Amino acid sequence: MEPSKLKDHVFKKGKFTTPLNTIMTPLNDDESWSHGRLPEYLWIGLVLKKYGRSVGLEKIYKIIVILHELVPALFAPRMSDVLSLEYPIQASFYEQVLSIISKDTIAPLTLLLTQSKYPVFAEFFCVPTFDIKLRQDVLLETMQSLMDHQTHEATDIRFVVLFFELMSGRLKILKKEGDLLLEYPTLEHANEKMRMIRPMIRSMEMMSLHFETISEDYIAHFWKGISQMTDCSLYTMHFINEDRDISGYLEELHEIFAYLSRLLTSVTPLDEKMNVIFSITTYSYKRFKEASDHNLFNSISGRGCVRVMIENYIMIKYLLKKESEHQNIWREYQFYGLGLYKLVLARHRECKNINPTSHFDEDYIEALVNEFVLEESVDMDTRYFDQQNIRLKAEAVNEKDLFGLYYDYDSSFEHGLWGAIRESSLVKCNNPAHKYHCVPDIDDHNNLKSVLPDCIMIMRKTLELLNELYGLPSPTYEEVTKFNV
Ligand SMILES: [Zn+2]
Repeated sequence: MEPSKLKDHVFKKGKFTTPLNTIMTPLNDDESWSHGRLPEYLWIGLVLKKYGRSVGLEKIYKIIVILHELVPALFAPRMSDVLSLEYPIQASFYEQVLSIISKDTIAPLTLLLTQSKYPVFAEFFCVPTFDIKLRQDVLLETMQSLMDHQTHEATDIRFVVLFFELMSGRLKILKKEGDLLLEYPTLEHANEKMRMIRPMIRSMEMMSLHFETISEDYIAHFWKGISQMTDCSLYTMHFINEDRDISGYLEELHEIFAYLSRLLTSVTPLDEKMNVIFSITTYSYKRFKEASDHNLFNSISGRGCVRVMIENYIMIKYLLKKESEHQNIWREYQFYGLGLYKLVLARHRECKNINPTSHFDEDYIEALVNEFVLEESVDMDTRYFDQQNIRLKAEAVNEKDLFGLYYDYDSSFEHGLWGAIRESSLVKCNNPAHKYHCVPDIDDHNNLKSVLPDCIMIMRKTLELLNELYGLPSPTYEEVTKFNV
């Protein structure tokens, strides 16, 4: 299925709803295929695995006809329903099943359907010589191809379920659909016609769900048993560790920033605009250098670096754009930032139990807040600078993509949102019996993709801006902006 476009989503109160979810409410866990239904129909999967699709479907057909004749009131060939049949009926069913398939076909299920809990089943299907590990392997391999409800294997099972339902007479369908259904077992999955029949089967099988009573007990028993039986099998993501040599590039960058620093201190020491712009870019430079010095390009902190470099770049462009609308936007920008410092300072002063080892140094921050003006004259504005959030600022300076494609992604890491947590701190378990859950990645099995190329890209944009404003020295400027890894 093609991913849907952003514009097809319904945007309401700041939330994008996918086109599918606007017309459907998601199924609850017990009704979902892998959790709630696969355990009920795994026996069908075992028969198909043992005999192959064509012979397997024939054998299952014979089995469900027997089941329907024995229990005409049954609407689905659910394992839990079979297991709760009265002894003579259950025994008679198993006896007839064993005339169609060999005992070892569904014997792996005895690992879960044990003598103590399901004695009739165990009596008929237990094969003591069948190695436990082998029984596990068969179950897991079968589940592997069935966990996704849209695989061919899962669709084969859903066909059987649907067919049983039709046999029971509860579901009525059109003759045209019935004819297609009858063709299903005779056609190979590669057949062009199947592209139409498979989705039809899946959607028709879903309709019957609403009539089902879920056997919560059985499903809970199944998952508890199978998940405890096997260990996690970690599936790790590994990106290339950043080890490209950028020392030459960093030296050239240093040369540029040294030049800017000389320009400010010796030529125009009191130029407030230049001071603010150079200071912001110096902050970007330092963050970049820090990431390099400590090899943070593959780390979570590296993402913070990209994010702040983007924010700085957008902020400079924004300040330049709005300069003419303000009396002195450069001063306002400084006072805005100091005001936020003052706010934290005030909270510290009012707090009784300050931890002296905290990384907030009250005396030092107090000195900074009072550096040029008396603290009392600094306003504390807890809104966004110029009352525009970073998204609006990015739009105002035509950097919507930089914001939408990079900044937002890296923000997830800074705010500890789930996508970032999943990507950086969890590792996938490839065991279907564990429903492919994720486990904490405390031993750094995963790493993240290097942020170095993006840091260079934003640094280039930043330098281009500085060059437009002040002219940067050749040929260092050309070399630095040409640099790529
Ligand atoms: Zn696991």
